Amino acid sequence: MADRDGVIWMDGKLVDWRDAKIHVLTHTLHYGMGVFEGVRAYNTTQGTAIFRLPEHTKRLLNSAKIFQMKVPFDFDTLSQAQLQVVRENKLESCYLRPIIWIGSEKLGIAAKQNTVHVAVAAWTWGAYLGEEGLQRGIRVKTSSYTRHHVNVSLVRAKASGYYINSILANQEVTAHGYDEAMMLDTDGYVSEGAGENLFIVKNGKLYTPDLASCLDGITRDSVMTIARDLGYDVIEKRITRDEVYCADEAFFTGTAAEVTPIRELDDRQIGIGSRGPVTERIQATFFDAVNGRNPQYAHWLTLV
Ligand code: PMP
Repeated sequence: MADRDGVIWMDGKLVDWRDAKIHVLTHTLHYGMGVFEGVRAYNTTQGTAIFRLPEHTKRLLNSAKIFQMKVPFDFDTLSQAQLQVVRENKLESCYLRPIIWIGSEKLGIAAKQNTVHVAVAAWTWGAYLGEEGLQRGIRVKTSSYTRHHVNVSLVRAKASGYYINSILANQEVTAHGYDEAMMLDTDGYVSEGAGENLFIVKNGKLYTPDLASCLDGITRDSVMTIARDLGYDVIEKRITRDEVYCADEAFFTGTAAEVTPIRELDDRQIGIGSRGPVTERIQATFFDAVNGRNPQYAHWLTLV
């Protein structure tokens, strides 16, 4: 990814893609305390627009706040930086990666005096779990690795180091041919995917795990709003893995994964074993929203 044309916003300046480098003694590289976002821009009917830009920027700054990282840029500057990288790279639709990290002045875990840095990159990235996954659904396996505990990791933050846990889970299940991992919390209840929130549909109602151990996903929030607008009840609660086996439908949500149906969990077919009707309706409304085809959700789009 390092060798390509384009520009990356780094600490207030646009830098050539190949020159966007940091030192090997960067604190975040050693200890994992960095915070980041995954954001998407879509080629909407009104032109290219970033989906839920204020919410992503707010979550990024809240992640930094949780770790007491003093970000040298404000909300407006970071919002503009994201719009700028899409524009300058002439991207019609893309994935954006804003990241905040701790500099290389000093190693050792105490680094209060170290500088804090920000970069925003953007590039084209298609369906994270595959186009076929969006249509037919994916095969998911429960990982043997437990999701974060609230008093070990502060899960309202989207932090670099947390993804070791996601990578372990994803590696474990993809090695056996599954598409993605499902993770359980420390009490054994369903938490989320390695990089996605989970929903199930049962008797016409939607259920999703409460926010104790999973990320407060922005797609999760969008889907809850869409589902309620379509007339479905949405309930946040503890969910067991066998509730997922016996659900009528299940799907993952995420900026990268968008709305991806789950056709199987732990080798049990879920519902009809492909994208169910409620998932299809919510997914279609979601894609209308992100692509600017539904005026009801126009406020979720910031034109580039
Ligand atoms: N959970 C985890 C662990 C994630 O990495 C992501 C992706 N950011 C999500 C859930 C979904 O969050 P969002 O919809 O905000 O992308």
